[in-house]
Amino acid sequence: MQVLKFGGSSVANATRISRVLDIVEQKAREDRVIVICSAISGCTDQLIAMGQVEGERRESLLAPLKQQHYDIVTRLFTGVERNAVKAELDILFEELLTVPGDECQTYGELISTRIIARKLACEGLSTLWIDSRSVVIKDNEARTYSKIGSAVGSHREVRVFVAPGFIAGDGYGHVTNLGRGGSDYSAALFAAAVKADSLEIWTDVPGIMTANPKDVPSARTIPAMSYASALCMAQHGAKVLYAPTVLPAMEAGIGIRIRNTFDLRSNGTFISDLPSPELCEWVGVSSLSVGDDERIFLVADGPMDRVSANARAMSALRNAGVSALCMGEGSGFVYFDVRRAIARQALSAIHREFFEVPRLTKLDVYIAGRGAVGNALYELISTGIARESGKELNIAGFSSDHGFADTVIAHAARHSVFVDCTDSEDIYKKYIPLLEAGIDIVSSNRRSLAVPFVEYSAMRQAAMRNGCFLRYGTTVGTSLPMLQTISRSKASSDRIISIEAVVSCTLNYILSSGRPFNAALRQAQEIGLTEKDPSHDLGGRDALRKLLILSREAGVPLEAEDVEIEPVNPDSVYESNQRFVASLDEDSSSPLGYKASIRLKTVPENHPAYWLQGTDNAIIIRSVFHPSPLVIQGAGEGAQQAAASILNDILK
Ligand code: ASP
Ligand code: MG
Repeated sequence: MQVLKFGGSSVANATRISRVLDIVEQKAREDRVIVICSAISGCTDQLIAMGQVEGERRESLLAPLKQQHYDIVTRLFTGVERNAVKAELDILFEELLTVPGDECQTYGELISTRIIARKLACEGLSTLWIDSRSVVIKDNEARTYSKIGSAVGSHREVRVFVAPGFIAGDGYGHVTNLGRGGSDYSAALFAAAVKADSLEIWTDVPGIMTANPKDVPSARTIPAMSYASALCMAQHGAKVLYAPTVLPAMEAGIGIRIRNTFDLRSNGTFISDLPSPELCEWVGVSSLSVGDDERIFLVADGPMDRVSANARAMSALRNAGVSALCMGEGSGFVYFDVRRAIARQALSAIHREFFEVPRLTKLDVYIAGRGAVGNALYELISTGIARESGKELNIAGFSSDHGFADTVIAHAARHSVFVDCTDSEDIYKKYIPLLEAGIDIVSSNRRSLAVPFVEYSAMRQAAMRNGCFLRYGTTVGTSLPMLQTISRSKASSDRIISIEAVVSCTLNYILSSGRPFNAALRQAQEIGLTEKDPSHDLGGRDALRKLLILSREAGVPLEAEDVEIEPVNPDSVYESNQRFVASLDEDSSSPLGYKASIRLKTVPENHPAYWLQGTDNAIIIRSVFHPSPLVIQGAGEGAQQAAASILNDILK
């Protein structure tokens, strides 16, 4: 059995009712159905007004409503049938003149469903109209279920049941209703009562959306959501679904599909018992009036960090020139009160921040570090090359100052980019505050990433939580796509068996020079290849940083202490087929699952690193997908290469 509910706008006139009939007939070919309908749109409001007056005044309010329904009947029926339906409606119109005021509003659904049931019967379907006033008992689901169960169960021959939404009995012989918008709830009660296979709510919007499209035109349909999220959205102002609907469906384990009568091809929103995600996902924004103000809700699924959600939302509002009067939170949402007059602006600002890809054409870039790389980047950006990627990069700051990061945190707009071209040991401490201020980070400073694993992962999490990026593709192999390749294989569930990274430019240069070690070292220093203190290169510290970054990219939480290092001694004699190799090897006996080392290795002629020349770098990755290894090799050094790689990270 399937339950289909059609809202007021889906039955607003004869044309729309015809669409509804098509949908019902098609479904009825596959399965038995229960059709629940609202009153035609606007009708309930008019009936409520009628209920407030009596006698002739009521009669004069009834006239236009009568005409509207007659028009529908005239278009849908001919001949004898037309007269029969009109006669049936006339009885209802007659009653409307004398019923107690608060019962008037229950007639809209009586009238609309009479018309629809009649028409379906005329189409040859075996149809039965069910009086919801006697089977839906308000505030008593158990009785409701048993009454609906027997009303439906005793009519095996019927293909289509039609019942009015919204209206109910109070259990003591009086007529009542389920509250404005209550037809959705009626449908859920019918579905739960008969343990329906599906519950479809047909409406005039594409489904539950990330915002009300009337307020935020860029709102998107949410294809699938959990009962809890749907309930939260519905309780906090999303008008597309009447909140009490969710519970009966959830208890009966029936999925709710919200569909658009005007777009049969789209699948709308499917609400079911989706598990809560491990990481926070933003569901949507909605709003409700509170006194003269509007309360904006930002709804989340999964573990939400309220502090950062608030900070992000507040800054989005501030940037849109909207000031929040107050903010607060509840289970699964945070909210902000704003003046009614600027509610739309506020909704759009929050929606843009949490649900729209920032389509900034103009991007402020702050470059920290005025060394060779910083300067090369400055030059490169100044050429305007980024415009070809649709971005206008504006260098908003360029400094080697210690306090530069703090200035950026205090002044930069969200989604500005902070570029760390320094070789500072402690600038990474500013990364989390930068990310929390909504600033994206690109780093060529491998010291910032080769920090203890907890600090590294705290930075990555801060980026994720704040909707920002932290990219550092330049830190290993400069512009060679080494990190990229490893993160791609991780993301596609490939398993790394070993990594051999020949990534020390200084040592590659010295070892491939064919000259005495010390002489070659001096030359490397002269051409600016070594770290300021060359013992970082020879002692393997630079290679260690790169190995840490590579391994972590592969998902291995490697720490410096895990790596066995054999430093190079400049006074020894080395063979020309030796290479300084940082390696990570799968090793089930180690608690990490891998062992890591940095040492000189003698490489045979068939080894990819054998022919490595000058400052070139190579990485040799063996994985389940690449048993014969994946090799990336090429120029691993140079300020221009670094600048190019940083620019790519900025534009990615
Ligand atoms: N007709 C009622 C209303 O306008 C119930 C409904 O449409 O769900 O509130
Ligand atoms: Mg509705």
